[in-house]
Amino acid sequence: MVRWGQFQMDVVKRRRKIREYLREANAAVFLVLDVDTIRYLTGFSGSDAVLLIAREEWGEDLFLCDSRYTFQAREEVQKSTVREYRKKLDGIKDALEAAGVRDVAIEAHIVTLAFFEKLRESLPEVHLVPLNQSLAGIRALKEPSELTFIREAIRVASESFQEVLPRIAAGAEERQIAVELEYAMRRRGAQRTGFDTIVASGDRSALPHWTAGRRKLRPGDLVVVDFGASVNGYNSDETCTMVVGRPSEEQEKIHAVVLEAQKRAMHAIRPGVPLAQIDSIARNTIQEAGYGAYFGHGLGHGVGMNVHEEPQLTPDVEGTIEEGMVFTVEPGIYIPGWGGVRLEHMVAVTAEGCEILTYLPKSLISC
Ligand code: ZN
Ligand code: ZN
Repeated sequence: MVRWGQFQMDVVKRRRKIREYLREANAAVFLVLDVDTIRYLTGFSGSDAVLLIAREEWGEDLFLCDSRYTFQAREEVQKSTVREYRKKLDGIKDALEAAGVRDVAIEAHIVTLAFFEKLRESLPEVHLVPLNQSLAGIRALKEPSELTFIREAIRVASESFQEVLPRIAAGAEERQIAVELEYAMRRRGAQRTGFDTIVASGDRSALPHWTAGRRKLRPGDLVVVDFGASVNGYNSDETCTMVVGRPSEEQEKIHAVVLEAQKRAMHAIRPGVPLAQIDSIARNTIQEAGYGAYFGHGLGHGVGMNVHEEPQLTPDVEGTIEEGMVFTVEPGIYIPGWGGVRLEHMVAVTAEGCEILTYLPKSLISC
């Protein structure tokens, strides 16, 4: 488990990086409204608050919330002064006016246009500076304490899958399997599931974002199960593909192509390699086998406090792999009307390559 002392040191380090960004962006204060980012920077696990981080330290950073969260905030929030507001906008206005700052950075991808207009109206003196992906870049590189949380989420999800696996069989309903898996994850300590569990059988397995319906598993079905747990604010994300009974030759062949694409992509992961190159290694493997038209989505995505975060692994993404990144490698082949196979691992980038964090087998599981 991660101790508070460690977490406090992490928080100080993270805020130092933010202050560097503020200097680059020429902003005096960072107004944080995204609750995941607030958790990342303070430890607060509630669902509504404001955090103000100053470029030049103004004593402690300011954490603002309404009365619903004051008690929780005093227990959880690290390295900040907790202040209560009645109305969020007034709380922000008072704090910024008291500090007398002009240039305030905000998260361009989080703040709604409506709230942006309100901020501008009530603070006409303030210049709002949009911060784009810089923060996502910080969060993409995981610290050891974050890896511990991610491993814990993976363990909870994997053990739950192993528990439910014997009941994935002909006659079982997709939804029933999903519910049992979710219940098993909650029982093992997940605060919630990372996302709606996918159990896609038969022709539905060809729909990458099918969730789980009333269809009952039949002999010969491919079954794609994509699931994840959220533990201590960190997520896991993994996909296994099964076949009900004995696999056909074609099912085995397509599974082998997806597995090979995943292996080749993971083998090439190391710091300095372009992210897009990893995507194209998997994509080319599938293309060479003649199934290029049936792999439509990106190869993977970062996982952390959000199930989908930086980096993205897509054909046209910019940027290179860096040590500390955690992302999925999830190639798939989806043939409409026939079915689909997706295999998803999570990896952590090390100095020389990558460590595969998820440990459930990616063979074609007969159930
Ligand atoms: Zn997934
Ligand atoms: Zn995923």
